[in-house]
Amino acid sequence: MSEKVKHEESFEFQAEIKKLLNILSHSLYTHKEIFLRELISNASDALTKMRYISLTDQEYEGKDLPMEITIDMDEKDRTLTISDTGIGMTRDEIIQNIGTIAKSGSLEFITKLSEQAKQDSNIIGQFGVGFYSVFMVADNVKVRTRSYKDGQSYEWHSDGSGKYFLNPIEKERRGTDIIIHLREDEKEYTGKARIQSIIKKYSNFVSFPIKVCGEVANQIAAIWKEPKKDITEEHYNEFYKFITNTEETPLFRLHTSAEAPIQFYSILYCPATNYEIYGFKKLEHGVQLYSNKVLIQSDCKVLLPEYLRFIHGVVDSADIPLNISRETFQDNRIVHKMKSILVKQLLSLLQDIAKNEKEKYETFWRQFGRILKEGVHLDFENRDTLAQLLRFNSSRCSDSHGLVSLKEYGERIKPDQKEIYYITAVNRETIEKSPYLEIFRKKDIEVLYLTDPHDEFLLSGLMEFEKKPLRSVDQANLDLLKDGDSKIIDTSSEPQNYEEIFNHLMKTMRVVLADKVLDVKESKRLSDSPCCLVNPDGMPSVHVQKLIQMVDTNYKVSKKIMEINRKNQMIQNLAKMNENSGYQSLVEKIIQQLFENALMQDGVVSDPVSMVQRLNELIEELTMATLGGGKKIIV
Ligand code: ADP
Ligand code: MG
Repeated sequence: MSEKVKHEESFEFQAEIKKLLNILSHSLYTHKEIFLRELISNASDALTKMRYISLTDQEYEGKDLPMEITIDMDEKDRTLTISDTGIGMTRDEIIQNIGTIAKSGSLEFITKLSEQAKQDSNIIGQFGVGFYSVFMVADNVKVRTRSYKDGQSYEWHSDGSGKYFLNPIEKERRGTDIIIHLREDEKEYTGKARIQSIIKKYSNFVSFPIKVCGEVANQIAAIWKEPKKDITEEHYNEFYKFITNTEETPLFRLHTSAEAPIQFYSILYCPATNYEIYGFKKLEHGVQLYSNKVLIQSDCKVLLPEYLRFIHGVVDSADIPLNISRETFQDNRIVHKMKSILVKQLLSLLQDIAKNEKEKYETFWRQFGRILKEGVHLDFENRDTLAQLLRFNSSRCSDSHGLVSLKEYGERIKPDQKEIYYITAVNRETIEKSPYLEIFRKKDIEVLYLTDPHDEFLLSGLMEFEKKPLRSVDQANLDLLKDGDSKIIDTSSEPQNYEEIFNHLMKTMRVVLADKVLDVKESKRLSDSPCCLVNPDGMPSVHVQKLIQMVDTNYKVSKKIMEINRKNQMIQNLAKMNENSGYQSLVEKIIQQLFENALMQDGVVSDPVSMVQRLNELIEELTMATLGGGKKIIV
């Protein structure tokens, strides 16, 4: 046995990695070439960390090494070697970094990947498992590495099945070499032109030279510091693809070079897709912070607020100290100032798009609207701008896809209309059947349709738009109910002495529903339905109360005011029956049922068992009456 084999230790991969490797090596992925991008990106990360250390530490391994990535191929041996002079890895780091999955979300990704056979492997790098993509093309991989910390060297090797092996070795230079033994049918990756073209496609903007057989294959320059006129659309898009590891074209971008009050450069992009909607975990901030071309943080959380977390890009300011710690970021005056400028610029760009490219804005809104909305509650300074950027479906839209802004609503508002109205429910279909809308239809008043559970919180947080209060249609005292004309009731078709018996019915209802409603009143908003429940002012709508209930099971949906429609035939019948003491128990049951019906219309079912029982009794009475037996129901 040789010296080397004696020291070899063998390890099992973590179960998740085994699963991932199995998927990667047995499925037919498109874009296998991205393995090179992933390995170069790891090399570049290792170099970036090294550059940072070299600027802040005095002592470290291999001080005079050039900071670069080299790639060499051997056609005969079918190998491809990617070397870097980055930070390298210690023995523990190897085990930790390539043997275990640390990042959350990776598992989720693996599951999705395995569900979709023959999938595009392109997004693998976003899930912290990019290294393993090498097993799409390799039948054996060696990682030879020497850390800047301790100068010890190790070789890791694996064939991508269940195990990997570790050996101590001699390695001269700091950094990492990845030696890939290609599978028989992946020989193409020993071709120089092939490798160069992959680098152009995916790794052109890596900020260290990538030398393929001695020749530099990438562009290196920092695109954000170049004048706008020198950058082509294609160039911008390539850079986006580079920083996001995707094939997507961004929806829009913002290239800023500010001189005063602080000097900084930035290119920010809005992606085309919001992966949060597709059930992936919450997006992480994607802005990279540089100080004069040196990367300080790749997921900078303080440069943009949470509600703009979907924006990707770079911000570079020579005014940011290199050794700034994550903790002191928040208090840094320059960071603060940059944030404020960037947010204002992004929001104003969004306003421009909304104004001049309506369709594009709607595409944006459908993807990122629900994230942007969060800002209304959180960003007081930009609240008015954010309010203008909101979009809702409304009664003016022909279907559930239509979108209107509060401004558009405001432009169409009736001369005497003092409030902006909205209704909340799970979808447009449910909303359109709602009795609350009857009066709005009659008066031809626009109502915003809120179907996102957050929308009502949003509007109640906003309170008003351009001085007009925002009101839920189920509020008790709406301004549009105050004016006279809805009180004018055609009494000609009403039964004799109706005023009296109607009032009597309301009295009976108050007694029957004493512990269920706050009051019973004549409705001015209903034209067809017999009754509905309205909210005393200041209470959130039933929809929102139900949401609260889901979180807090002790929360009781608050009591409502029951409004009844004096013109409704059923109410008129009931008023007459109420005058006959023989029908008292039947009248009570009907009142109880009317109340339950109104609740159900709001999506609340309080006691299904007794309701079904009551309904059965009512049906029994009805069938008896129809057959002429039992009590005769006269009207
Ligand atoms: P990610 O790059 O998203 O962290 P990867 O699977 O690509 O996920 O890499 C896993 C980890 O392995 C890296 O985070 C890094 O710590 C380590 N690593 C990979 N390649 C290198 C390298 N060339 N030099 C130093 N460390 C590396
Ligand atoms: Mg990586």
